[in-house]
Formats: sequence, structure tokens, C-alpha cells
Amino acid sequence: MSLKDHLLAQIALNGPLSVAEYMTECLMHPEFGYYSTRDPLGAQGDFVTAPEISQMFGELIGLCLAQTWMDQGKPEQFALAEFGPGRGTLMVDILRATRTVPGFLAAAQIVLLEASPTLRRTQSQTLGEYDPKWIDSVSDLPDAPLFLVANEFFDALPIRQFLRDGDGWRERLIGVEGESLAFGLGPHGPQVALSDRLQDTKDGDLVELCAAAIPILTVVAGRIATHGGAALIVDYGDWHSLGDTFQALQSHDRVDPLAAPGQSDLTAQVDFEPLALAARAAGCAHTRLTPQGVFLERLGITARAQALAAPLGGSELESLVAAHRRLTHPDEMGNLFKTLGLYPSYAAPPPGLEP
Ligand code: SAH
Repeated sequence: MSLKDHLLAQIALNGPLSVAEYMTECLMHPEFGYYSTRDPLGAQGDFVTAPEISQMFGELIGLCLAQTWMDQGKPEQFALAEFGPGRGTLMVDILRATRTVPGFLAAAQIVLLEASPTLRRTQSQTLGEYDPKWIDSVSDLPDAPLFLVANEFFDALPIRQFLRDGDGWRERLIGVEGESLAFGLGPHGPQVALSDRLQDTKDGDLVELCAAAIPILTVVAGRIATHGGAALIVDYGDWHSLGDTFQALQSHDRVDPLAAPGQSDLTAQVDFEPLALAARAAGCAHTRLTPQGVFLERLGITARAQALAAPLGGSELESLVAAHRRLTHPDEMGNLFKTLGLYPSYAAPPPGLEP
């Protein structure tokens, strides 16, 4: 039995799936799910993330968090947390870069939110010496100041898609055509959660909703508002999306998201506006949405690249220059990827994200 057979049987029994239900099955099914069964990262995998491109990314994120910790009076015990830590590369770079910040690591309990057993094993190899604590749910975050990073985590959360039809919406669903999975549309109806999108859309437009992100963000913002700390949410996307951003990647190429369920990485662009609104509703301040290139330049990536470049020559130097460009240039990740910072309303925003 493959995941496709399982989904065809499920649809025959219960009717079409929402895109969110399909994403959840494809990514997280315990036996066949994409994240449950493999390490998808890196040149041999399906996609490459910023921390896998260069150590500079994690180092600067680490120093940004450490500076925010100092600005907030160096709380004596805090959670240094990451959501969706992948191979643990970002956290390792954070920990190395902050070793020289007096008191920071001694006060930190490393907390990792990770759903994939395969990636948890990899993370325990990378990070075992730091005695991290894995959690299954955001509600397990300790009642303590929270300094958090989430890079390419929110883009993996399931989204639903809706097509504007007059003053209502039709949900995009996944059903069966012959032997294959195929997109279709559900019945016309109102959608309370999309009432504000009636203003900036017209008939036939497609919008996306990531309901799963909101309770996660509400808990994070609540911890920061109550205990202090900060969150750096880095992802591809914009304030809010318009159009179909649901995509599948396999071996670094875009593929049909319905062709081989469980075999490709499924993501959608992150809508940051609902995240910012949820943060505000939980009593937390948020920064302006800042392009990754701007954020990293403000944190000093060029000086760091120059320092790393000094002893290098030939192909090593070329790959460092390429990594700097890839992370920051507007034609590469610099503009598509953005950072939203959360922080307590009484404190200064994290460095690099000032207005
Ligand atoms: N942050 C890492 C990896 C990004 S890939 C990096 O930048 O390299 C997405 C990560 O989020 C993976 O670790 C994946 O297993 C995890 N993930 C995806 N959905 C999740 C969920 N619902 N709960 C917990 N972890 C999840």
C-alpha cells in the first residue's frame, strides 16, 4: 500500500480532502509521510534552507537573540527554542556564535519543537551535548522567557485554499478522477475567517488560510508578553498572499503536488499579517515585516563574510561569496524571504528589525 492508495481509499469513503488535510497526510502520515520517513534537506535532498547554505545565517540569528536577551536585562533562566529545527544546523550555529556572550548559554534551556522522528534523531546527533528538550506541542513550552527562532517552519503548516465566487467562497478540494488525485471545488458558501479578504479580491481570485499557525503564534506571543523574550519568524511569503502558492519540491525542482503524495516537500507561502494580528491580540508587539536581505545586512553579514573570507581562496572563496549573495540578494532569497520579530511591548525590538 502506498500513500496514494491510502488517500484514494479515504476519499472513496469520506469524500474529497481539503488541501490542509492532504498536506497533513503527505507530510506527517506516521508510515508514509514526507517528514516522517526522511531527511529532506541539503544538496542530496529536495530543498536547501538558509542555515544549510551558510553558517553566517545561524551566527547572526544567534547574536540577534543574545543582544535581545541582554537588552531585556539578561533573564537568568530562559528557553532558547526552535520550531522545526531540521538537521539542527541553525541551532548549532546559534550556540557556537553565542558561546562568548557571558551568561547566555548558562541561562538557556534548549527546547525543540519537532514532529519528525527521523529529524529528531538527526538533531540528537547534532545537538546531544547541549541536552535539548524535545516537545510535541507549543503548549509544552516552559513558563519562562522565550527566545525563539522558526526558519521555514510556518511554510510547512497546512493551508486551505478558497476561490472567490461572488460574495462567497468555494473551497479547493482534492478528489479522484479515474485512478488519479485531482483538484475540484466545494460548494459555495460564506467564510467568516475571510470576511476581510472581500475587500482586496475579485471574483475568481484564490486566497489561502493557515488556521494551524494561529494557536501556535498565540501561545508564543503569550509567553513573550508574560515572561519576556523574542521570536524571529523567518519564511518565504508576504503580508498576505493572493493566488495559489501551494508548491511541491522534489530534488530541487517544482513538481505536481498531487503526482506522488508523500514523496515531495509541500509548502505554501506564509501570510504574515494573520500572525502579526494574533501576536497583537495576545498582547505582544511585533516588528515591521523585514526582507531577509535587509535583516542580515543590518546584522552585519557583509563584515562577517569578509572575516570568513580572509584566509580563503579559490573555490572556497567563490562558494562563500555565492552564499552571501544567495542569502541576501533581492533576486535570490533576499526579498522573497522575510522576518517578523515578536517582542514585549515594553522592550526594544530585536536588532535588525527596528522600524
Ligand atoms: N528550520 C530548518 C528546517 C526547515 S524544514 C532549516 O531551516 O533548515 C521544516 C521543519 O519543520 C522540519 O524539521 C520538519 O520536520 C518540521 N515540521 C514541519 N511541520 C511541523 C509540525 N507541524 N510540527 C513540528 N515540526 C514540524
